[in-house]
Amino acid sequence: MGSTEQTGGSPPKPPIKLVLAAPRGFCAGVERAIRIVEMALEKFGPPVYVRHEIVHNRRVVRDLEGRGAVFIDELDQVPDGAKVIFSAHGVPKWVPEEAVRRKLYFLNATCPLVSKVHVEAEHHYAAGRHIVLIGHAGHPEVAGTLGQLPQGAISLVETAVDIAALSPPDPDRMAYVTQTTLSVDDTSLLVSALRLRFPGIVGPRKQDICYATTNRQEAVKSISARSDLVLVLGSPNSSNTVRLVEVARRAGVKRAMLIEGADAIDWTLVDAAVVGISAGASSPESLVDEVVTAFRSRYDVELEEATVTREDLTFNLPRALAS
Ligand code: SF4
Repeated sequence: MGSTEQTGGSPPKPPIKLVLAAPRGFCAGVERAIRIVEMALEKFGPPVYVRHEIVHNRRVVRDLEGRGAVFIDELDQVPDGAKVIFSAHGVPKWVPEEAVRRKLYFLNATCPLVSKVHVEAEHHYAAGRHIVLIGHAGHPEVAGTLGQLPQGAISLVETAVDIAALSPPDPDRMAYVTQTTLSVDDTSLLVSALRLRFPGIVGPRKQDICYATTNRQEAVKSISARSDLVLVLGSPNSSNTVRLVEVARRAGVKRAMLIEGADAIDWTLVDAAVVGISAGASSPESLVDEVVTAFRSRYDVELEEATVTREDLTFNLPRALAS
């Protein structure tokens, strides 16, 4: 007789190792933007209108909606006398101008690191330079940066082909700025192509890619090298989240997937001994916790956090909310 004795209880779970990338999830700009909406709701009471998703995460947006935030596309959906907040991605100049014209009370939740890019662009324009913006067409941050200056002052490029096609008014008076949430490696290549074509072009010391995007990409690279599968939590319209999936793939992991939450995991694909987990800068840590819990319900989990750097940056809140 064999020794397959039934001892009662559930069968043992298969082992799996989860490696959490650190840093991951919320950055200082996202925390500030969400706090602005929360504080505005506390101070003024609902409804508070928010132009565009305050940050690109459906869980965050749904949670704020539940507390009385109303997300709208444009200011013409805001009733007279209402309170409105502009998202972390920044807005074209005509948006606050229109709010002033309509005498709306508004708060600007633009991340200070996006505002810094706006200031750089204005500075270059004042110095008589034509500006090249490296970024993704259609992203709200790009629309906001383009909208800081008159039409034609900034050329948007996404690829080396776009750079080859540029025909600036004076090739000796050029500057560049970048979207804050791009791939660090891809952007370096584009900056090199710009410098090759326009040797006198001026720009930031490296790029305008923010500390949070850079750190999350470094962290996901480090876990990808030792994982069989990488799961990145976030929304598909979040630029920095999508970049993390690309970075993981390029770092050599067999499979990398963007998931919006634990219920999106396709367990038939989790044939892995080591699973790396990260989250975009607009994803709350609760999403990561839920994924770990879902793994624990199926596997005997060994949990490790792989930290490439620590972050302690915070941004001040608008003074109007302090009183
Ligand atoms: S990802 Fe970077 S630029 Fe965007 S909100 Fe966070 S800190 Fe600011």
